Amino acid sequence: MVKPINPVIVKARVKTQLTLKRQNDTLRSVALLDGLTGVANRRMFDEKLERDWRQCKREKEVLSVIMIDVDHFKRYNDRYGHLQGDTCLRSLANTLDEVINRPYDLLARYGGEEFACLLPNTHLDGGVQIAERMLECVETLEIEHLDSDTRQIVTISIGVAAMIPSNEATPLGLLAEADTQLYKAKQAGRACISFSV
Ligand code: GH3
Ligand code: MG
Ligand code: MG
Repeated sequence: MVKPINPVIVKARVKTQLTLKRQNDTLRSVALLDGLTGVANRRMFDEKLERDWRQCKREKEVLSVIMIDVDHFKRYNDRYGHLQGDTCLRSLANTLDEVINRPYDLLARYGGEEFACLLPNTHLDGGVQIAERMLECVETLEIEHLDSDTRQIVTISIGVAAMIPSNEATPLGLLAEADTQLYKAKQAGRACISFSV
């Protein structure tokens, strides 16, 4: 800026800065949201996992992680087509997102037909309760899936893990534990929850 200050130029420059700020915010939210479902994407999940880990470590609070995988989703696509598969994923994302309601909780699309949830300051019991509600809400949708061995509707399997972050553990270790539990839920017959005791 040079003196004397010209109000017209000041106004134009402020407008440019505001436009840039808005564009930047839009770009950032697009970069952090999943294009298909509108929930957080993997990048946002990874960023928040790091932040939640550090915060829970400082506060000696429990961080819970939920991993969710749609059962027999390949068969769903095979029978009903990929477009309907996409529609199904959108409904599931909406439903799962409605279950979590604390401002610091996050639901993200972790990849393909997998979702993950971060629940800071939440004990394992609380995480399992949320997981139970997710399971129920998805079954209440009653999305037909005639080729599923599990039920004749779309179901999900869930793994839950929780810990107070420490120097001996890592955020990836916590995720891996939730994933191990998810694998156990699949082994146990799907449409169920498994959690570390
Ligand atoms: P399981 O019960 O063991 O989880 O079986 P599954 O069939 O769900 O597991 P698998 O990993 O074999 O298949 C996942 C399927 O999810 C395969 C892929 O076509 C489908 N999928 C992944 N991403 C998308 C997507 O964005 N849209 C659609 N329509 N399908 C997707
Ligand atoms: Mg999967
Ligand atoms: Mg699956």
